[in-house]
Amino acid sequence: MHSARLELRSYRRPFRQPLKTYHGLWSLREGIVLKLTDDEGRVGWGEIAPIVEFGTESMGQAIQFCRSLPQITPELIEQIPGEFPACQFGLESAWETLTTNGAIAHDFTQCHLLPSGANAMLTWQPLWQAGARTFKWKIGVAPLNEELNLLENLFGALPAGAQLRLDANGGLSWEAACEWLQVCDRYPVEFLEQPLPPDQLSEMLQLRDRYTTPIALDESVTTLDQLEFCHQQGWRGIFVIKAAIAGSPTRLRQICQECQLDVVWSSAFETAIARQYILNTLIPSLPLSERAIGFGVKSWFANSVLDQPEFEEIWRSLEPVSARG
Ligand SMILES: [Mg+2]
Repeated sequence: MHSARLELRSYRRPFRQPLKTYHGLWSLREGIVLKLTDDEGRVGWGEIAPIVEFGTESMGQAIQFCRSLPQITPELIEQIPGEFPACQFGLESAWETLTTNGAIAHDFTQCHLLPSGANAMLTWQPLWQAGARTFKWKIGVAPLNEELNLLENLFGALPAGAQLRLDANGGLSWEAACEWLQVCDRYPVEFLEQPLPPDQLSEMLQLRDRYTTPIALDESVTTLDQLEFCHQQGWRGIFVIKAAIAGSPTRLRQICQECQLDVVWSSAFETAIARQYILNTLIPSLPLSERAIGFGVKSWFANSVLDQPEFEEIWRSLEPVSARG
């Protein structure tokens, strides 16, 4: 039986400035790089990049789980429990890179994440000059009227042809969501992402019917189980998919092909390892989405070996995961 040995190393990278969302301040991205080596010496790379606020396993749980695994086989990867979506992604993508030949780099239209609040006004211009046309702005972090004023200022400043995505991270009330959408309907807002908390799906279905600005689900559809549930409940709007925390890529492929979803691919602030798999292997194997991909997050970290394409170099730069994780 074809099997491989698993080794783990962990990374910690601070954000240049903490990312401010409704979930709070995020200042440090932690994750695990995994290396599979089979009997013939072939190597596969994977990454486990959990986001607990989105309902995934924690770093500690992922490390403990991986340490409990014997030799890695496809059968074992298939049996990873649903509570470990980031591990499902990391191990399955590593196995896939072990057993397939190199992927081809693709060019995608990117959406660029602006800082929340008034700092967005200082940031869009250099990105625009570098060719960016789609931007994302986090809302629900300051009082409603302040943010609505900022939105009007932002649209007053942005050149024609710019498109904005708004992301509330589930932080709005019903009334605030209605106010936002009334204003959004007057501007080129591509969509409002996750206006309400994940447990308010029927309210978001109502919002979708009431306003012309499209609604996207993100926190509601973090894992593939949640995604399938929302689809079964009649959600036919936009699905934001962070493949790195969604779970099994094989199952993701099946769902995307069967359900013909309107997908926005989105970063989970992963390193080049997960990013390259998602952009060069996973997305090209799926029906094409017209929407810009949400991987424009480079400016959020200092330059690092973690973003370059030589994975052995990334590996050498990291410490083995300590005995206690
Ligand atoms: Mg989001």
